[in-house]
Amino acid sequence: MTRLRYLPNVVTLILDSEKCTGCGVCTEVCPHGVLVIESQKARIADRDACMECGACALNCITEAISVRSGVGCATAVLNGMLRGSEPTCDCSADATCCE
Ligand code: SF4
Ligand code: SF4
Repeated sequence: MTRLRYLPNVVTLILDSEKCTGCGVCTEVCPHGVLVIESQKARIADRDACMECGACALNCITEAISVRSGVGCATAVLNGMLRGSEPTCDCSADATCCE
């Protein structure tokens, strides 16, 4: 099944490059590959794939990322409706954002 995407151009994700140290933690925790490291800085590579789970902001020790987490749960609801299952945003099996 094709991965569903959130509504275009509404994601609240903000990255402050000045604060970023390029540690890469945000790219490791993001379940949807939204962020990449380029030239030792994080960059938002696929904004509309962001489900606003908040994992990147939560794990960024320099507070370079902010996102209004929870908004993207609309996708989880839609996934649940389409699959006839509990809501899920296709985050990793260990994530708890859809609980
Ligand atoms: S976790 Fe924060 S400091 Fe580290 S690469 Fe991502 S934005 Fe930059
Ligand atoms: S909020 Fe979640 S989906 Fe969006 S960039 Fe951060 S970790 Fe990735």
